[in-house]
Amino acid sequence: MRCARVWLRLWGTNSPCDASLIVGGMQRGKKTMFFQGKHVDKKLNREVERLLKSSRSDGLLPIVAAGDPVLRQQSMKYTGQLSEKTLKKLIAAMRTTMLEAPGVGLAGPQVGIPLAFAVVEDHVDSGDDYGDVDAGDDFGGDDDEAMGSDSDPTSDSDEMEAEDPREFAEFPFHTIINPHYEPLGSETRSFYEGCLSVPGFQAVRRRWLDVNATWQDEDGVEHSERLRGWPARIFQHETDHLSGELYIDKAEIRSLSSDDNLGEYWWEPVPAEAAKTLGFTL
Ligand SMILES: [Zn+2]
Repeated sequence: MRCARVWLRLWGTNSPCDASLIVGGMQRGKKTMFFQGKHVDKKLNREVERLLKSSRSDGLLPIVAAGDPVLRQQSMKYTGQLSEKTLKKLIAAMRTTMLEAPGVGLAGPQVGIPLAFAVVEDHVDSGDDYGDVDAGDDFGGDDDEAMGSDSDPTSDSDEMEAEDPREFAEFPFHTIINPHYEPLGSETRSFYEGCLSVPGFQAVRRRWLDVNATWQDEDGVEHSERLRGWPARIFQHETDHLSGELYIDKAEIRSLSSDDNLGEYWWEPVPAEAAKTLGFTL
């Protein structure tokens, strides 16, 4: 298990009990009329069409790497700047690009579009077909409660293996437009994560364990959902992209590890050994 992305996929395979981790029913709200056409920004729409036409023959879009100014801008709130047809084509291309990377999230700025939206998708099914969060690359282990399995020596080992502290859970494909999150409670977790725009490396990042996530879908329908564990981490990572933040901005910088070294040394879910050896605080 040398590749961190293998690791990424393992989150899912190790968490058969986590399907309930997206708690709280999804609430549907009012619909915003994105597609009345009156808000279409013709220049931006043309640029997106050009991007789509210039994509590779396999339909993949180039992913913008750290250092490009677009990743550091505040994205524009989406109010219908793209035609319905163009938005849907862009979302489809971003999903294909995310899955191929492989990743579990991809934000507009990561394909050079400074609009406040992202695509997310993660599954907890099979083993070898792994993906990468953009955050996709979030992995690792963490802190206090995450260490709970160590605190009960009488626990059944199989049961402990089944309860991955990262709390992977099924996160079906969503387009999240104008997303926002608020923490629910004060609990946090620190795990390794990565980003498709910072390829080859991962670092430990503390995130809220539970959040109330709100967004609009591609039809303009408003949603509100409580997310916990890994889906909450993905949502936070992608939403942060839209305000010009990269996960490394608030990561434990001494935890920074190449993908290869992560697989070689720091594959335990809770990065306690990494903290001790590399010299950072969980
Ligand atoms: Zn990212």
